Amino acid sequence: MTDHIKTDCLVIGAGPVGLFAVFELGILGLKSEVVDNLDKIGGQCAELYPDKPIYDIPGLPVCTGQSLVDNLTKQIEPFKTPIHLNQRIETLKKVGDNWEAKTSLGQTFLTPNIFIAGGVGSFEPRKPPIENVLKFEDKGVAYSIPNKEVYKDKTVAIFGGGDSALDWTVELSKIAKHIYLVHRREDFRAVEHTVSLMHKLVKDNKVTLYTNNQLADVNGSDKIANVTIKNKNGEIEILDCDDILIFHGLKNELGPINDWDLGLSDKQILVNTENFQTNHDGIFAMGDIATYPGKLKLILSGFHEAALAAQQAFKRAKPDENLLFRYSTSDKNIHERLGLKK
Ligand SMILES: Cc1cc2nc3c(=O)[nH]c(=O)nc-3n(C[C@H](O)[C@H](O)[C@H](O)COP(=O)(O)OP(=O)(O)OC[C@H]3O[C@@H](n4cnc5c(N)ncnc54)[C@H](O)[C@@H]3O)c2cc1C
Repeated sequence: MTDHIKTDCLVIGAGPVGLFAVFELGILGLKSEVVDNLDKIGGQCAELYPDKPIYDIPGLPVCTGQSLVDNLTKQIEPFKTPIHLNQRIETLKKVGDNWEAKTSLGQTFLTPNIFIAGGVGSFEPRKPPIENVLKFEDKGVAYSIPNKEVYKDKTVAIFGGGDSALDWTVELSKIAKHIYLVHRREDFRAVEHTVSLMHKLVKDNKVTLYTNNQLADVNGSDKIANVTIKNKNGEIEILDCDDILIFHGLKNELGPINDWDLGLSDKQILVNTENFQTNHDGIFAMGDIATYPGKLKLILSGFHEAALAAQQAFKRAKPDENLLFRYSTSDKNIHERLGLKK
């Protein structure tokens, strides 16, 4: 049995909001530990769109999903916060004024504060129920793009009609030999501007579009030779390609979070907007997983939520100390905590 790790706050989820929460806790002098069930930090930014540009982070006119994660990681470096990957928090139990959290690997934490920054839960891509799709995973079939250079000069078949499918069609058309975009409906669920860009690429013969079609099979021996697609009338067509990208969305499953007796609304955790606490003292939720009237699922909203939750977490972790509001520009404590010269 592993010993409890005692900490001021346990952050569940190493997405952008969980990482920034570590910073907000750190400048108040609070220690935290982070757990994420993925094999890397960064949540959706790193897993789903590392190369895509983000335009609405305050003070950063443009950054990619991965560069945002890299900057957030740099920002929390001074706190040397342990990040426990490849394990998810399975259970939460009240022990006196503290919470005991246990991971799937059996590690336990004891803390007065739990920050749930779990995004859409333990997310997994939706996979078509086709045997050969699974067979060619890691051999040409992928559900996200960690490195777009893999697709340089390749013929790529992209399946889907949402933001990811359309964004990657536009982005990869700049380096791929050719793109097939296959969507099972006529209409797309993506921003208008990207849909227009895609139609322009179709006119320029850089993209071939198949609507009302879906993936029927993947063919090849050691590597992919082609894909079979099938239209609404059951007619099939074979498309020669090197790689296949499937963007059928994520399975939005809360997993164990469902069992923690938290107030839920449409798979999100209800919080107050004063300090983003849930229906349990000491359990806070922030980022995509939190909801309240007017909630916007934006990274910047999550940053604000983390900052306010950290104030309340301080009161719970250090009930005998006063927390004075100070600007980071002039607070000597913060300078010291960040390892800056006085
Ligand atoms: C294609 C795309 C483009 C986007 N563009 C923008 C944009 O331009 N601007 C913007 O503001 N937002 C954008 N977003 C949304 C933005 O990415 C999310 O709002 C943001 O990632 C939410 O951050 P988070 O930290 O709350 O959650 P996430 O990034 O989802 O991270 C949550 C983490 O929690 C982990 N987790 C969940 N449950 C557990 C558990 N029980 N135990 C351990 N770990 C757990 C997950 O593995 C995950 O790593 C975009 C999203 C997508 C998909």
